[in-house]
Order: sequence, then C-alpha cells, then structure tokens
Amino acid sequence: MRIALVRLLAALTAVFCLTATAFAQQQSAPKELRVVTRVLPPMVVDRGGSLTGFSIDLWNEIADRLKLKIKYHVAPDVGALLADVRGGKADLGVAAISITSAREAEFDFSQPIMNAGLQILVRGQGKDAGDSNPLKDVLSLLFSWLSLAWLGIALLLILVPAHIVWYFEREHDNGIIPTKSYYPGILYALYWAAGTLATQSESAPKHWAGRLVAVLWMFTGVVFVALYTAQLAATLTVQQIGGGINGPEDLAGKRVAATRGSTAATVVREFKGQVVEVSQINEAYQALNNKTVDAVVFDSPVLLYYAANEGKGRVATVGSTFRKEDYGILFPRGNPLRNDVNVALLKVREDGTYQRLYDKWFGAAK
Ligand code: GLU
Repeated sequence: MRIALVRLLAALTAVFCLTATAFAQQQSAPKELRVVTRVLPPMVVDRGGSLTGFSIDLWNEIADRLKLKIKYHVAPDVGALLADVRGGKADLGVAAISITSAREAEFDFSQPIMNAGLQILVRGQGKDAGDSNPLKDVLSLLFSWLSLAWLGIALLLILVPAHIVWYFEREHDNGIIPTKSYYPGILYALYWAAGTLATQSESAPKHWAGRLVAVLWMFTGVVFVALYTAQLAATLTVQQIGGGINGPEDLAGKRVAATRGSTAATVVREFKGQVVEVSQINEAYQALNNKTVDAVVFDSPVLLYYAANEGKGRVATVGSTFRKEDYGILFPRGNPLRNDVNVALLKVREDGTYQRLYDKWFGAAK
C-alpha cells in the first residue's frame, strides 16, 4: 500500500514536472519577432515581394544563429519605422538606420552594422549626360554677371593708359591720336588701350613715353586675358558638373530630394537647401532624372549602388561622404535581446561571414 502510494506520488510529480517544462518551453519558445524595415537598395531590396539585401542577409544570419523566427514589415519612412519600434508594433528595426544622438537617447542600437555617411548625387557626367548643351553654356557665360564684372574691370583699367597715351601722342605729328583736342582724341586712345588689353592692337604709339606705357600695358593685357580665360574655363567646368553643385556648401537654395525624416533631410536644411521629401528613395531618383530637383542627398552606400547600376551614365556622386554615420539595428530601450544580437554580430564579423555578405552586395558593380 505504502509502495503504491509512493509510486502514485512519483508518477504525479513526473506528470507535473513534464507539464511545467512544456509550459515553460512554450513560454520561452521563440515567438515570431516582428521586424520593421525600409526598402533602400542594396541595404534592403524588394525582389517581387520577398526581401533581401545586405541588412536583411545580415539580420537573417544573426536570427538563424540565435534561432529566432522573424516576420518583416516595411515602413513608409524612417519616422514610421521609429514609431513602430517606439509603439511596440515592431520588436526591432533593421534597414539603413543611422545611429544619431537623438535616436540613441530614446532607443538602443546594436553595435554598428556598417560605416556609412551622406553624399550628394547629381545628374550628368555620364556618356549621355542630358544636361550639358554647349551653345547654352557659351551664351550663359557670355551674358553672365561674371562677364559683366570682367568688362567693368577692363573699362576701368583702360582709362589709365588711354589718358597717358592721349597726353603724349596728341603732341606727336604722326602719332596714333590724329587730333589735339580731348574729344574725340580720347576715343582713339581708349580704342587703342582696349585693343592692347585684348592683345589685338592695330597701332603703336610713337612718342617714347607712349611706347613705355604701351609695353607695360601689353604685359597687363597678357595677364588679364590669362586670368579671364582661367575663370571662364573653371566656370564652364563647374556648370557641366551637376549645375554647380560640388559639395554641401553648394546646396544652399537648390532643390534637393531626400527621404522623409531622414538624417539627410535634416542636413540639407542645415545647409539651407530646399528639401523635397519623398517616401521611397526611388522617387528621389525619379525627381533627379525628371529635373524636378537639382540633387539627391542620401546615404552613400545607397547612392553609390544606384550610380553604379540603374543610374549608370545618367547620374554621378560629387565629392566624398561629407557627414559620417553608422548604421545599427534598432531596439526599444532595455531589450535583453540586444546583447545576444551584438555577440552574434561580432561572431559574424570574426568568422568572415560579414565580409562574404559585404562582397555579395558591394563587390564589383553588377
Ligand atoms: N539612414 C537614413 C536615416 O536613418 C535612412 C532614411 C530612410 O530610411 O529613408 O535617417
């Protein structure tokens, strides 16, 4: 009887333990993690509804190692992505999320998954660059403020030698000023001075003082023409390269596309550019190609990928990355998963998997 009771107790205990373990397992069973992302090739690529790309491959690798089940959803902009993690609609965010002080103050980030930064994309420079029209370039140079300024300087400059030459030459019998009076004598002198400045003079003064001035003036002419030519060449080159945008300082007053809520949009505003905010980066490329904007400012890995693939020959990046940023995986504050993810991420780096994925997406342009 006693033995039977002990057996029954043992059996009951076993059943209880099994149930409790099963329950506990169910509790800790990897539930499906909701991951919010953004389509930004090559970080996140949408291939007919299925997501791939560097960030996705990297996260899938980490999730595999941690035996996590995941379900992705795509946010319309980075602000919505942050809101989903903030509001608990997503457990974490994986895309091309820049680590910023404001975001770090509110969320937790993983170790950086990539070094990136902001760059500028403009039209042109390719084989079939649509923007450059030689006739338009020449006309706009001829009738520019720059030409007007040089003309003004030239007019002021010629007054000096013209007066000296007029003074000495009018005394000379067969000098270049046929009359002794100031008017119209000075007109002959001005014509001579202008011609000499442009290195195209038809006549030379006969008086020794006039000749001395002529020699000095000829040298001035050579320097003047050289400077003017250099300035014209520089302006023309700048015009041909992306309508004069060579760096972030040139963004002031320009129409610049960036995605809504992105770090790029903030930086364009800092540089006094007129931001045209779009939801998808593709819309920014379209706006650039349609000439509704002058440039796109965005994350360099994304822009370089577009310039080397779809946008090849039509767009080009100018300058290098002007604002450094790192990408991280976004967690709500205090999420215990972050440490495991960091360990897995560092292992992925150490065992060469990271490099393999990097080469797959950033290797030779396809
Ligand atoms: N790196 C950008 C940011 O974090 C991405 C913006 C976007 O997803 O559109 O602001």
